[in-house]
Amino acid sequence: MDLAKIKLTRYILIGLGLGLLCGLLLGQFVEFKLDDNGEILRDSKNRAVLANGFIEDVLLGGVLEFMGQAFIRALKMLVVPLVFVSLVCGAAALDDIRKLGSIGLKTLGLYLGTTCIAISIAIVAALIFKPGVGVEIGGLAEYTPMPSKPLIQVFIDIIPNNVFGAFVNGEMLQIIVVALALGIALVLAGDHGKRVLGFFQDLNEVIMKLVVLIMLLAPFGVFAKMTQVFATEGMDTIWALFKYFVLVVVVLLIHGFVVYPSLLGILGRMNPGKFFAKIRNVQLFAFSTASSNATIPITLRALEEKVGVSNKVASFTVPLGATINMDGTAIMQGVATVFIAQYAGIDLSITDYLMVIVTATLASIGTAGVPSAGLVMLTMVLAQVGLPAEHIGLIIGIDRILDMVRTAVNVTGDAAVTCIVARSEGQVDQEVFDRSV
Ligand code: ASP
Repeated sequence: MDLAKIKLTRYILIGLGLGLLCGLLLGQFVEFKLDDNGEILRDSKNRAVLANGFIEDVLLGGVLEFMGQAFIRALKMLVVPLVFVSLVCGAAALDDIRKLGSIGLKTLGLYLGTTCIAISIAIVAALIFKPGVGVEIGGLAEYTPMPSKPLIQVFIDIIPNNVFGAFVNGEMLQIIVVALALGIALVLAGDHGKRVLGFFQDLNEVIMKLVVLIMLLAPFGVFAKMTQVFATEGMDTIWALFKYFVLVVVVLLIHGFVVYPSLLGILGRMNPGKFFAKIRNVQLFAFSTASSNATIPITLRALEEKVGVSNKVASFTVPLGATINMDGTAIMQGVATVFIAQYAGIDLSITDYLMVIVTATLASIGTAGVPSAGLVMLTMVLAQVGLPAEHIGLIIGIDRILDMVRTAVNVTGDAAVTCIVARSEGQVDQEVFDRSV
């Protein structure tokens, strides 16, 4: 049976729609635990804590929790081996090591450049539409800012001091460094290297088949995640922060559907419509898992097998992008900073906004591709311009849903930049790209 032929997108969309409906329906019957101020209590992962009952314990906290977690854990389980093996093969296939330098520089330049554009649009939009003016919210949800590490440490941490530690902790940048070094060493080692490389290439094929198998869980996993999110994220919070919510979503959509296609068309000379049709599953996975990291296997597979990008480029740019390229996150941070400043009645100067652009771009490098990581890094951005980090409590309630949308934008950015870099290096197979989906 050819598993790849199953019309997965259709089933995933059905899971998504059904999950949304069931979630909204179940949400009518869900009860939350409240704190002393009558605010909804949230756990360390920013999820609302449920009171007891059949819906809470058996459905949402039992069956659906199992279905959703099984799907996400299965995906995550593949990330480290897939990135490592695929990148070893990619690096070893580069006929000229200097290519790595040009691919690396172009990728970094585009990742940082697109993030700057994203956050600039976000700040300008927030200054025009003023989402934080006139907002009335009862009290702040509990938010204890987590200490973020100094920037220089982010760079030092790229070099692992223990290879196994890098794998066990899933440290993506460290794994990239080890894989690149090993790939280069395999080439330098001549015949010995060739034999080892053969093993890695076979393993890569096998892991890709595992990705296909795990994708079959997607419709169920997506259904479970959507039901949980929409049953527990009270719609009332969205109403209270409606302007902020809509503004973030609109800027995300502009970036995703105007900026990327323009760059793809102009710099990559590729048909954006075709590109979007081919990465639809990637966006759906990112949306429902809210994790760029967990989506890496799907992104890699779609870019290599459907878009036609060679493994040499994608195996490097995709894990790197999932780790350091977060345009959607930067958009949320831009709007949130202006929102909090307006809410707190603090005037920021032009220099402050420039600082926000620089810090948020750097913060996106340090933001992990996991749910809610963007909120943690928002602390760093706010601190730069002297805004109170506790005010993050204002937006926490609706961040889960925004996280889903921005993660879809984050992975779209990774895919678009990958295509542009691959095109400039002559590494896109036009025949594969032209094939219908
Ligand atoms: N969830 C986002 C991602 O994985 C990061 C964030 O903005 O929280 O890309």
